[in-house]
Amino acid sequence: MSRILVTGAAGFIGSHLCAALLADGHAVVGLDAFIPYYPRPLKERNLAPLQVRPGFTFVEADLRTDHLEPLLEGADAVVHLAAMAGLVRSWQEFDSYMTCNVLATQRLLAATAAHSGAGSPHFVHASTSSVYGRFATGDESAPLEPISPYGITKLAAEKLVLAYGQQFGLRATVLRLFSVYGPHQRPDMGYNVFIRKLLAGETITVDGDGTDSRSNTYVLDCVDGIRRALATPEASVGQIFNLGGGEEVNVIQVLEMLEELTGETAHIVHGPPRAGDQRRTVADIAKARTALGYAPQTSVRDGLRAQVEWQRTTQ
Ligand code: NAD
Repeated sequence: MSRILVTGAAGFIGSHLCAALLADGHAVVGLDAFIPYYPRPLKERNLAPLQVRPGFTFVEADLRTDHLEPLLEGADAVVHLAAMAGLVRSWQEFDSYMTCNVLATQRLLAATAAHSGAGSPHFVHASTSSVYGRFATGDESAPLEPISPYGITKLAAEKLVLAYGQQFGLRATVLRLFSVYGPHQRPDMGYNVFIRKLLAGETITVDGDGTDSRSNTYVLDCVDGIRRALATPEASVGQIFNLGGGEEVNVIQVLEMLEELTGETAHIVHGPPRAGDQRRTVADIAKARTALGYAPQTSVRDGLRAQVEWQRTTQ
């Protein structure tokens, strides 16, 4: 059993990760500041089933301002998921993105580095395909050309992680996550919006012509990749991995699947493409497959079915 600190524990991916780590028999300290990017009650709903599980402790703390070193005491690993996610608002709310994605990461790294040396915590950092820019289609050596303030702050965070690794011997791993979906998905994310509007009979606005494509990752496949990085530090420390799903689908194909899964007809209008949006993301996961044994299992149809069922029961 290990003791693992998970930041962003009340969020979409963090809440699933905490549940999986508890099921693996670890002691988990979940940290979150309930940043009002989306409503706190939704995050409390994510947390509720964790709060009653033995081995789980929740700490409400802000990585930007609170004293972090004591939280690292006795930790075997840190999974850093806390961030301002989502690119659209990063054009308007840069201050939050800069402080939550860059300053918060630096403070957590400094606190973790203070415990470095033999038995120091393994720092697993959640980065994003947005660091690649408009096309995220190659392997981990593809050019890093982010086109949104979100992607730029996440690239800065990733570089900080690697710098702390070099400079202070911090044992760190960077995971670049590709468009994650499934139950608990953030309410601002495309599939959540599509399902919500389909179920409510509302008009859906598609940004651009609907041919933008994604190799989406089902949230439990993403969590499996994070668990594998934690379980094999000898293969993952000092490395960067893409973690994506296998199947590429475009927006129109997703809407057709969602019509089938919900039994509703989509009323679609097209709007302009969003500033800073990615045109195509196809994760090359060969490195994670070889080094970590990562192999996403969930088809887009099955993953969307699970998300539709979750939204039916919660909205
Ligand atoms: P989320 O918003 O649901 O979860 C992030 C959590 O971090 C929130 O609950 C928020 O309150 C918390 N947080 C933010 N700033 C904090 C701070 N200063 N102190 C303490 N807590 C803070 O987002 P998510 O979709 O679960 O994303 C998790 C991570 O994965 C992020 O780092 C994101 O950049 C990355 N990522 C997500 C996706 C995706 O498709 N969801 C894709 C690529 C990368």
